[in-house]
Amino acid sequence: MKQENMGEGLALPENVPPQKAAKPKRRKKTAGILRQILLGFAAFTLLILGLLWAFQILLLNPFYEYVKTQEIKKAADTLSTYLDGDPQARIEAALQIVSDLRANVYISTETGEIVLRNLVNEYRPPQIALLTQTERFQLFNQIHVNGRPYLTSYEMRDSYQNLVTVAIYAKAVQTPGGLNRLILLESEITPPSTIKDTLRVQLTWVTAVMVTLCIALAFFISRGISRPIVSINNSAKRLAFSRYDLHFAEKGSREVRELAQTLNYAARQLANADSLRKELLANVSHDLRTPLTMIKGYSEVMRDLPGENTPDNVQVIIDETARLTDLVNGLLDLSKLEAGAATLHISTFPLTQSIRETLKRYEKLADFTFTFDAREDLLVSADPLKISQVVYNLVSNAINYAGADKTVALAQTVQAGKVRISVTDHGEGIPQDKLQDIWERYYKVDREHKRAQVGTGLGLSIVRNILDLHGGTYGVSSQPGKGSTFWFELPLSPPQDNAQTENPKE
Ligand code: ADP
Repeated sequence: MKQENMGEGLALPENVPPQKAAKPKRRKKTAGILRQILLGFAAFTLLILGLLWAFQILLLNPFYEYVKTQEIKKAADTLSTYLDGDPQARIEAALQIVSDLRANVYISTETGEIVLRNLVNEYRPPQIALLTQTERFQLFNQIHVNGRPYLTSYEMRDSYQNLVTVAIYAKAVQTPGGLNRLILLESEITPPSTIKDTLRVQLTWVTAVMVTLCIALAFFISRGISRPIVSINNSAKRLAFSRYDLHFAEKGSREVRELAQTLNYAARQLANADSLRKELLANVSHDLRTPLTMIKGYSEVMRDLPGENTPDNVQVIIDETARLTDLVNGLLDLSKLEAGAATLHISTFPLTQSIRETLKRYEKLADFTFTFDAREDLLVSADPLKISQVVYNLVSNAINYAGADKTVALAQTVQAGKVRISVTDHGEGIPQDKLQDIWERYYKVDREHKRAQVGTGLGLSIVRNILDLHGGTYGVSSQPGKGSTFWFELPLSPPQDNAQTENPKE
């Protein structure tokens, strides 16, 4: 059956050579959904049927005897209300008991004289008919003294030679009219064999119907449950082999639909990551190759052509080497941060001063204007090198994407025990729908690879990772055409930490 395939090891596609594929671990074969549901249903059905048989057949005798005895007692109570009035009504009440309960009815006075006698028309005389007047008299007195009715039973063979139990019930009554009477009832309390036979036939039918229903229901329910799971499982197998162009059918029960939705989301994310990886590989190899080509070209020119060994040409080689170093460092930083291998060296350091020093690096860029609006010098507890890398990355971006005014404005504000550093440029800005994505690694708003303008797509991802490690907050606001403001916040150190101040090393 198809469902039984579930839970087995991953089937390898035909084109994967067996020696290269990871050997699936030997797993204990688990039962399929159909078998599990079938077993569950079977256990439930067996329990219900067992209870039914136990109650209906095994416990029939005690139940029947109990109910019949209760009815006999009730009949005696009813009859006792007729003792005073109309004799005809009394006779009819007694006849009613005879026909309803198949009970023999005797009523005698306290001295044992019979006043009413109605017998079930059977060949054998009931035991109560064999009592003498004296015995009835004694019975009345015994009940009177004990203060409770008399109940006994005996066993005998009926006309079919079956062993049956017969109950005798005697009750002494004093009527409101002042009469003292003994009511005697005698009846079989064993269920007739026809009842047992009927029940047995009925239960056999019920058992057959329930077993058939159980199998059919288990089959349909398990098919309904397992079909979508089987289809999800088949798609998931393809996912394991990097085939992301698939769709998990969102059918079946709520849990299965949610599973399919989650897997669809995971497949989309995997596809994105995969295309980003490919894009990065292309970009990085392009980024690595271009400066290398330049370095090689300029070096060869300087070697081969007299007079080309100029400071300008050497500067090109130095610039391209710096670009390469940046790229390799960025990749290393990010891979360390993302692998969780980066450790923070926290110390209390002067943030404001450190930013000023970072900005000094850009003084060579004569055509750019840098402003830093900071009213006071503040201390924070953080990793000085990593925080200056954050500032460096944000300022580099502001320079890369600055507008015609070539101005980068930094500001330091304090609010609720936190210091906020913001970096503003008046460049092209970032579209609203891209504001979330730019923090992802390798993401570039302008997908076209413009090496001259933009870097590696790693800068903001490094910023995010560093600030996450510090538990800091960060964000960006931007208006396309007007510019962007990137900011981050760190908790301020209390002033007493001044003593431990360290200067950041560049
Ligand atoms: P990159 O090295 O490409 O700058 P980042 O991770 O630093 O990589 O930035 C990701 C993307 O975010 C950039 O490619 C750019 O599209 C956008 N971006 C970052 N900073 C700015 C900014 N100041 N102005 C406009 N766009 C920006």
